[in-house]
Amino acid sequence: MKDKQGRVYIVGAGPGDWELISVKGLKKIKEADVILYDFLASSKLLSFAKKGALVICVGKQDGLHLKEQNEINKLLFQKARKGKIVVRLKGGDPLVFSRGIEEILCLKKKKIDFEIIPGITSAFAAPESFGIPLTRRGKFSSVAVLTGRKSNGASIDAPACDTLIYLMAVRNINEVVRAILKSGRPKSTPCAFIERATTKKERIVTGNLRNISGRVKKFSVRAPAVLAVGEIVNYGKRIYGHKY
Ligand code: SAH
Repeated sequence: MKDKQGRVYIVGAGPGDWELISVKGLKKIKEADVILYDFLASSKLLSFAKKGALVICVGKQDGLHLKEQNEINKLLFQKARKGKIVVRLKGGDPLVFSRGIEEILCLKKKKIDFEIIPGITSAFAAPESFGIPLTRRGKFSSVAVLTGRKSNGASIDAPACDTLIYLMAVRNINEVVRAILKSGRPKSTPCAFIERATTKKERIVTGNLRNISGRVKKFSVRAPAVLAVGEIVNYGKRIYGHKY
């Protein structure tokens, strides 16, 4: 008789505050035999693991990889093949600027059963948690979510959208600003870095395209942080009174 197959749940942990995970995601954490998690997922979530569950940090954070991607893929399908319920817990949404899709393609190839449980991405949660909406009816109707760092060294994108949201942009801020200016936006365009959003250490550093690089240095902005660019950033000031 064929062995009982396990299942892999690719779960979005949400941006930082553990309570921002979905009800379904938390339920799967409680049921899991094995949990593989990244640094960005709130550690509080791991306290819900059942007794005896195997909890492994595969820790990916800005260049530091505790486990190589193929090792992670292997762990996922090997555990599931043994009939285990596996949770792959990833920060924010599991498929936004992550290698989640590579893991899923591998599971598909190995004929392992899986389910994707979306999460709240930091791309949206970070600006929103400081009163910065992404759209406004009749005024700002397009948003792009971008990366400030490309693995192949390709140039940074700055498409013609009302709002630009960059992840992984701290270290490369000079290049990101250069790309945005090149796209024709004025130097006075408002922007804001939101660091460690929805955690106790959350912080917003605001400015414009002329001064944001200097302000990153001055205020020692560190990853993880999201950069929001566009007139929409001014709503944060109106709603929460940030100093610009
Ligand atoms: N899948 C994640 C993104 C992973 S890429 C998501 O959907 O949120 C890692 C980047 O996400 C970081 O460099 C940073 O730009 C952003 N990020 C993740 N968590 C964050 C947080 N709590 N506050 C600000 N930025 C965050």
